[in-house]
Amino acid sequence: MHDPSQKPFNLAIVGGGISGLILSVGLLKHNIPHTIYESAASFKEIGAGVGLAANFVRTLDLISPALREAFLNVAERPDEKNVHWFDVRVGDLRRADADGFVRKKNGQKFLIGETVIKWPGRPGLQGGVLRAHWLDEMVKLIPDHIPKFGKRLVDVLTSEDGSGDAILHFADGTIARHSAVIGCDGIKSRCREIVLGKEEAKPVFSGKYAYRGLLPMDEAVQIMGEEPPRKAQMFLGYHTHLLTFPIARGTVFNVVAFSSREVWADPQWVVQGSREEMMKDYADFHPTVKAIITAMRKPDVWALFDHQPASTFFKVDPRICLVGDAAHASTPFQGAGAGFGVEDCYILTELLATATKAGDLDKVFQTYDEVRRPRSLKLVSTSRAGGKVYQFEGEGGDDLDEIEQDMVGRMGWIWDHDIRIDLDRGLQSLNAAYPVGHSSVR
Ligand SMILES: Cc1cc2nc3c(=O)[nH]c(=O)nc-3n(C[C@H](O)[C@H](O)[C@H](O)COP(=O)(O)OP(=O)(O)OC[C@H]3O[C@@H](n4cnc5c(N)ncnc54)[C@H](O)[C@@H]3O)c2cc1C
Repeated sequence: MHDPSQKPFNLAIVGGGISGLILSVGLLKHNIPHTIYESAASFKEIGAGVGLAANFVRTLDLISPALREAFLNVAERPDEKNVHWFDVRVGDLRRADADGFVRKKNGQKFLIGETVIKWPGRPGLQGGVLRAHWLDEMVKLIPDHIPKFGKRLVDVLTSEDGSGDAILHFADGTIARHSAVIGCDGIKSRCREIVLGKEEAKPVFSGKYAYRGLLPMDEAVQIMGEEPPRKAQMFLGYHTHLLTFPIARGTVFNVVAFSSREVWADPQWVVQGSREEMMKDYADFHPTVKAIITAMRKPDVWALFDHQPASTFFKVDPRICLVGDAAHASTPFQGAGAGFGVEDCYILTELLATATKAGDLDKVFQTYDEVRRPRSLKLVSTSRAGGKVYQFEGEGGDDLDEIEQDMVGRMGWIWDHDIRIDLDRGLQSLNAAYPVGHSSVR
């Protein structure tokens, strides 16, 4: 029998990654029945680090205080009052003069490898985690009956009975019926292809790739000294840059070493790299950077693709809405891809909470699209531009004054944004679209 406290519609979440799990917790809060369909045999994550700025941690809290705790339980947190985002240094020896200096500012001269820009962050709880740890904490919040594994979505059709329901078809030959599908299936999203068509949905190679590796903190301390590995560091260079930050309550040193190439031909986007290739890419770098690279035994290489701007994040026939990387995969140069997935989940679950029947879902998805698309497409384009700046390819080239100017202005619109204002705007627009007397208008 239908539980009257539950919504009379039922959603399918396709993809049980960061966005899919956060969305599930938000739907549980509003008593919205749903199932997660994940292609893998279990929830699993790669061994890499990810950071969330304070505004994203606050947004987790708005969805559910338990989600905020799940992140903070496993995060390495900087001093919340005195947050700096990165100590920025020049790593590329070619940028230094004959005496090793790279910058002169206010009468002070800075050597290669020294901090030349202190890039401030924003106060508040925030930090870096090992993705696998974060996922494990979130899985604890989701009842066992919600996820179904080994379910790779291949198609979605609209039911022919006039209900508007979505019929999901999986690679194992099974089908499932839901009022709508929420595509949280990442950058290579099948849901995105169904919404936009294959051509528009296609990810584009950004011209950048990254070696990702993890070191025990003790080893990083031996290389860099006691303090620097415990703070986020960025080393700039020509067509390459490297960043590090502590994760996992300070026990692990996360390294991401970026490089450039024109094309990425391998159909795999995450491949095993070698120390030799890395050493070649970083041949002109400061000994500290070289020592970090030497210590990264088996780095993964990630080709960095992003999405061209989507003309919509939803479709009525079949009824699908896109969330997280499926909607707006971005390069990682502003450290906000997962954070924007958090924002998507907050807005979408709160808007869904106003729906009283399956027929309301199209209006909800349209409102979500209006609210989320402009902000998230801006992230994709500004992030690409950021990658160029850190690799001396921006308008200011290798001029550190220009780079500092850029950095100071780059992140404000991401970090200082009050997401509750977006929600209010969405709720107003949605309430205006509901007929008079709609029972959950707030
Ligand atoms: C080098 C690098 C560093 C980054 N650093 C940061 C950072 O510091 N901060 C930050 O906020 N973001 C960062 N990001 C971005 C962040 O990792 C992504 O934005 C985030 O992982 C997206 O989560 P998602 O759940 O939307 O997609 P995904 O994590 O890709 O999850 C998609 C899920 O869908 C499943 N799936 C796929 N296809 C199907 C199908 N057909 N059927 C069923 N299931 C399917 C997959 O198995 C997977 O579980 C970084 C990214 C990179 C590459």
